[in-house]
Amino acid sequence: MKRELELFQKLTTQLLHKEIEEPVIKPLQANSLWDKINISLEEEAISEEEFEKVLSKIIFNTPRTATNKFFNQLFGGRNPKATLGDLLAVILNNSMYTYKVAGPQVGIEIEIINRVCDIIKYPKKSGGTITSGGSVSNMIAMLMARDKVSPEVRSQSYQEPIYAYTSEACHYSIKKNAAIIGIGTEQLRKIKTNEKGEIIPEELEKAIQEDIKNNRKPFFINATAGTTVYGAFDPIGEIASIAKKYNIWLHVDGAYCGSVIFSKKYKHLVKGLELADSFVFNAHKMIGTPLTCSILVTNDKKYLYDSLSVEADYLYQTDGDDFNLGKTSMQCGRRNNALKFWTLWKSIGTKGLETIVDNQFMLADVAINYVKDHSDYTFYSYDDSISVCFNYKNIPADKLCTLLYEYAELVIGFGIIKEITFVRLVTINPSNTKNDILDLFKIIEDFVKNNKNLF
Ligand SMILES: *Cc1c(COP(=O)(O)O)cnc(C)c1O
Repeated sequence: MKRELELFQKLTTQLLHKEIEEPVIKPLQANSLWDKINISLEEEAISEEEFEKVLSKIIFNTPRTATNKFFNQLFGGRNPKATLGDLLAVILNNSMYTYKVAGPQVGIEIEIINRVCDIIKYPKKSGGTITSGGSVSNMIAMLMARDKVSPEVRSQSYQEPIYAYTSEACHYSIKKNAAIIGIGTEQLRKIKTNEKGEIIPEELEKAIQEDIKNNRKPFFINATAGTTVYGAFDPIGEIASIAKKYNIWLHVDGAYCGSVIFSKKYKHLVKGLELADSFVFNAHKMIGTPLTCSILVTNDKKYLYDSLSVEADYLYQTDGDDFNLGKTSMQCGRRNNALKFWTLWKSIGTKGLETIVDNQFMLADVAINYVKDHSDYTFYSYDDSISVCFNYKNIPADKLCTLLYEYAELVIGFGIIKEITFVRLVTINPSNTKNDILDLFKIIEDFVKNNKNLF
């Protein structure tokens, strides 16, 4: 390994320099990728020299998501302590299904889950699992809800349709999961949102009543904490009352902004969370761990076992269920996605996580104030969100974002709501500062000014 570790150090040191000199790279055209880089796999081995050359070429042509010019997605930056944890996880190469194979790493995952359950005031019988992402966490939540109302599905398939409710602004994984686990997308009710993108509880209750009146069986409500475009928070307390009244599982999809649980100032945005049956947040989004790290918790771990536990003598040979995490996972072999979050959390404390979250809202406020103060901009989103949506000089946002990408100025995306397309700035990179946000506006303004012919 010595040689590879040296190569790793050499390549990553170069990359870190390049990220500062050239935070955005010119994209390679997808259709000429094989012509530009020798990525083809061949019969014969290549020399170490050739190998290093092609590897550098790939690395230096890969989009740079850790820089202060990357705003395209709901993740960004590179936290050193979390990255260290992930590098160690790769070297250790454990599979998280049993204590026998993963030892203390299992304890680390359990510790994260227990602390999260404490923070959101879940009862003693609560539990959870770290999944491969928010989409899968949402699927397991839907599965637990299904198996609670229709346990026979597991052995006999669906005997009758069951109905799920979510807002029209929810993440697309809710629909995808309804298809995957056999609920059927037609049994998924998309409830109207208000102008801020929050679900309207009265509309939700009406839809449930209508289904019950027609002898249809509701089983699952999804509330979103941070919708994918606007970053809106559904009113969990009000939805929880409805869920309780009709005895329906309530899941809170906080993949994007559920990390507000760590902030005294912003946890009010998920008020009532302790009343939800399950909750997910992605530490690889607001917290800034490397991809992926999605924490799913439920207020009664019995439901995780009911849906996911199958006996396997060849696997579970030592220790109790609590330490054999394979029994609460969809996977068999499972990557260690816990250590990177633990190394970060352990090093900066829960107070440090709070600072990360608060800083993002501070940066969003900087952006919101800038947009509101400059008449060339139109503002579309709302306060208390780290998604800042705007247009500049009425330039079509899709065109502006694509040009900024092609000219290697900025990597930023656009959103569409009610047929309006706008730039969506996400202030999620934990290492960004106020100046990085102000720079972004300057880059957009200069780019438009200096490239009048393009617009
Ligand atoms: C990102 C996101 C997801 C999906 O999470 P992945 O980890 O990308 O699968 C689900 N819901 C919301 C609200 C999200 O923003």
